[in-house]
Order: sequence, then structure tokens, then C-alpha cells
Amino acid sequence: MKIDSIHLYRISMPLETPYAVSRKVFHEITPVVAEVRGSGGELGWGEALITPGYTHESVEGGWDFCKHAASASIGTDPVAALAILRRQVDMHPCAASTLIAALEMLTAHDALRVMETTRIPLLAPCHAKDPEALKDEVNGLIESGFATLKVKAGFDVGKDLARLHTIAETARGRAALRIDANCGFSLDDARRYLDGLRGVPDIELLEQPCGSQDWESNAEVARISPVPVMLDESIYSLADIDRAASLPGIGFIKLKMKKAGGVERLCQALDHIHARGLLPVLGDGVSTEIGCWAEACVWRGRVRHAGEMNGFAKTRARLFEDPLIVEHGSLLMDAGRTPVIDRAVLNAHSVERESYTPARSCQTR
Ligand SMILES: [Mg+2]
Repeated sequence: MKIDSIHLYRISMPLETPYAVSRKVFHEITPVVAEVRGSGGELGWGEALITPGYTHESVEGGWDFCKHAASASIGTDPVAALAILRRQVDMHPCAASTLIAALEMLTAHDALRVMETTRIPLLAPCHAKDPEALKDEVNGLIESGFATLKVKAGFDVGKDLARLHTIAETARGRAALRIDANCGFSLDDARRYLDGLRGVPDIELLEQPCGSQDWESNAEVARISPVPVMLDESIYSLADIDRAASLPGIGFIKLKMKKAGGVERLCQALDHIHARGLLPVLGDGVSTEIGCWAEACVWRGRVRHAGEMNGFAKTRARLFEDPLIVEHGSLLMDAGRTPVIDRAVLNAHSVERESYTPARSCQTR
């Protein structure tokens, strides 16, 4: 098989409800999507949202990387193209992952074969700010089957704690709480937050309290925390996982396909986390169905804790002709089902597109 054509899209998928993380509010998700076609008619899709601050990459730099890599890949063997791209993951994790994941789907990576129907428990985010609305939201999520809730923090310690207490009192005994500060705490903030969460029941973990490069503060928080700490923004490489494993109090590592560098490297990183005695959490909350489906495939057999590949459930429109189904708080992965992209939805949400084929030079829209 040779790579026959690559189409790159920048898309904009508006969210049903704004999604607030410590330093940003998402109103839409705007990933790069790659469509790769093989010489035998095979098709593969990949995507990644580049969020500056989450990755060291810039949106424009990632788009340029994908354009150059796509142009260079036309007419080549996908296995050779994959080898070249995987060597560039350290420099361009999200951008390279977009094309790597598409090529891995094109070449039918084993981890993407769904031979038996599987249900993957999903985490659900709590959006509401007003206490009464928050109680209603928490009750509604639990009643519809979600058993793990995400509590964003890192905004204002006092308000973060008030919100945590409302959620914990409402959910009591019925759901695990995963708190994510998205790097939003100073060490002093984190100490005050920890003081306020002591005794709060059902907390599964505290995710990324301090800055991605501030290993010293994150290590200190982990050391004194009454709940396990998970690192997310700090973790890109296997060396980062090793470093985290050396710190007392770090119990979990959060991975996403877009920072691991596609399916194969994600599988290796998950195995590496287990080998270091830590537990993985997997999934991108700001990914569409393309990325969430691939992460859900990889989750099977490698992860036990609730998946965070729920970005697709936040968008108003869906990219799959048969949208992914969430049933009783779990993502239903049907045996034998291969995703098909709804071209009308893709085109309606595309803001820029580049096409590469052997016969024609790049076309821009
Ligand atoms: Mg996170």
C-alpha cells in the first residue's frame, strides 16, 4: 500500500455548554483533522486539538507541521511514513499524533479492532456554578448512570472548595470525584485547597495541582495530599512517567493519544505506567469522535478507571454517521463497527482545508 492522498481540515465544533478549565473557557473545539487514503482505497482518520499551554506547540506551527508532513508522505509506504513521524513526536506531539493516528487506522492497527462489544465507563464533567443548579446537575448525572465526576478547580481556592463540598455532599457514596486543577494552583493555593478537602468523601484523585514544569511544587503537594495526585500537563514522555513514579503520593498518570504520539506509542506508555507501579487514566475531554473512538479502543484491556474520552459528547454536532452511543454512563463500543465520517457535518464545520495528491499540487480553500 502507498499513501494516495491526504486531506487536512481545521474544523470548529461548537459545544453545547461552555467548558471551563483553570485558564480558559472552551466554547468550541477546533482540532486539526487528517484524512489519509491508501492506494487500495483504505481510509484512516486522526485529529488533535492543539491548546497552547497544554502543549508547547502553537496552533499555526502544528498546522504547518501537518502540511509539510502530509506533502512529504504522498506516494510513500505508510509504515515508512509512520517511522518518520514517530521520530518527531517529542518536538510536535499533537501535530504528529494527528497524522500518526490516521496512518495507524489506515494500516488497521490491532488496538483499533473492535471484535467484541465493550462498555467503557465514562467520566462526566460538572459544569454548573450556582449551588442549586450544581446539585441538580450532579443528581442528574448520577441518575443517568455516571459513577465518576470531574470537578474542575484552580480558579479561586475558596470558591473551588465551596463547589467541591456541594458536589461531594450531593453525590455522597454514589460517585467518585476526580478533581482537576489544570496547573491553576500555586503551592500555597494547593496547601489551602488540601486543608479544605481533608475529610471530604469519595475523592479518587487530585489532578495536576501546579504548573506543568513545576515538578517541585507538584511533588510537595503529592507528598502532603490525603488523596493520590495525578499528573497530566507534566507528562509527555516515558522519562516524565519515570520521574513521576519516583515521587511519593503520585498515584495516577493521565494520558491522551495526542500527547503520546498515536495509538502504538499510547499503548507503550500505558504499559510503562503499569510497569512503574502507577495507574493510568486515559482520554481527551476536548476531542471529537475521531480521537475519542481511537482512545476508547486503546482503553480496552489497558485501563480500569473511568475514561475521559468524552469530548465528543460536549459538541452540538457529531462527525460520525452513526454517532458514538453513551448508555447508562458508559461508551458503547459495538463489535465490528468501523466509524464512517459524515461528510456533510465535516464540510459544514471546516474552516480551512488542504489537499495533497500525487497528481495535483496543494489546494487551499
Ligand atoms: Mg487534566
